Amino acid sequence: MVVRRNSAMGEQVAAEPENATKATNPTPDGAAGQPTPTKAAAKKATGTAAKKVAVAKKATAAKKATAAKKTADVKEAAVGKGTVAAKKTADVKGTAAGKETVAAKKTADVKGTAAGNGTVAAKKTADVKGTAAGNGTVAAKKATVEKKTAAVKAPVVAKGTVAAKGAAAAKKAAAKKAAPGKSAPASTAAPAKSAPATKAAKPESRTALVRRARRINRELADVYPYAHPELDFENPFQLLLATVLSAQTTDLRVNQTTPALFAKYPTPEDLAAANPEEVEELIRPTGFFRAKTKSIMGIATALRDEFGGEVPGRLEDLVKLPGVGRKTAFVVLGNAFGVPGLTVDTHFGRLVRRWKWTDETDPDKVEAAVGALFPKSEWTMLSHRVIFHGRRICHSRRPACGACPIAPLCPAYGEGETDPEKAKKLLKYEKGGMPGQRLKPPPDYPGRPAPPLGAE
Ligand code: SF4
Repeated sequence: MVVRRNSAMGEQVAAEPENATKATNPTPDGAAGQPTPTKAAAKKATGTAAKKVAVAKKATAAKKATAAKKTADVKEAAVGKGTVAAKKTADVKGTAAGKETVAAKKTADVKGTAAGNGTVAAKKTADVKGTAAGNGTVAAKKATVEKKTAAVKAPVVAKGTVAAKGAAAAKKAAAKKAAPGKSAPASTAAPAKSAPATKAAKPESRTALVRRARRINRELADVYPYAHPELDFENPFQLLLATVLSAQTTDLRVNQTTPALFAKYPTPEDLAAANPEEVEELIRPTGFFRAKTKSIMGIATALRDEFGGEVPGRLEDLVKLPGVGRKTAFVVLGNAFGVPGLTVDTHFGRLVRRWKWTDETDPDKVEAAVGALFPKSEWTMLSHRVIFHGRRICHSRRPACGACPIAPLCPAYGEGETDPEKAKKLLKYEKGGMPGQRLKPPPDYPGRPAPPLGAE
């Protein structure tokens, strides 16, 4: 095969075989150059020529067939290649498509995740976001918690502050709390924590003071629902005498002493006519027995002579009796006559000053200040609750702050023992598992009765 180059197109074209080219393109010169034969010769020549033409046609046809076949092969090859190429292309595309599909799937997964389906991608995204924003979120959460804590503490502080905390008391309490070896129980931690804040807090308003004072009273009512006067008595006369005898001694000692006195002198007339020395011997255990003998015999005489042998039920009458002041008068009025009254004894005065209800020390002024914080109907029972608390938990020298139920409301928290276990050992009477002060306590008293004189 001869290859001819089409210079203009630069393409290779398959040329016809040289013999086929000559047969299919006889030159005119070949026929015209032959001498003229006879008719037979002419016929022969014509037949030969026809044969040649036929042969030439056959050759041409054969060439065309071959060429066509080759073309067909080439085309098939081309087609085949195209197919392969197409296939490869398809594969590639398929691969690409597959990859895209995978990618799409992954994307879908991620999107699904992002959409909240909980896929790994989503989780990762979430994690990443969590990491990215997480710190901020955690910080934000912490900030929120702190803010809430602060918000929660704030009222406590405010309450504590308003509550009761004078700056001096808070400072004192804080100093005590900081003392090594002392820790506040959970219930009493609030005052400790709020103590520093009280320094910057505003002074407690009158309204806040009233609210805190009344809240303390309610708390004490829960702690001492059985609060009562701790002197044994069966009538106003006995209560009046027992109250006078309780000066400078304990109610327990009075209760252990009065049974013999009341048994021997049951009425004002009996006592007014008694031998002073015999009375002195009977009341000796209460201390200051000579002065007390004069007082009780003077009271008996006044009752006999001025009040018909009866204890008067009015304050102005009671305070006229020898040795009877407002405190004694209110005890009698409140517990024997049902007339509201505050009993400002040593316990009452100490506690209300610790609670910052008042700074007064004079009993009459304390009575006026505290009385203004409560309705009259609460005065008598408030007195009992406060005195109960002073005798059992909030002692003069070592208050048991670590076991005190009203510690969160107390500005003086920390003045005493704050360690719960140590504080618990300081509790007295029924709170400490010990006998009470009355030999004949009320039925609802949860503790044990006091032993009689000489049986302690
Ligand atoms: S025991 Fe402590 S906390 Fe409780 S009232 Fe007394 S001083 Fe306040």
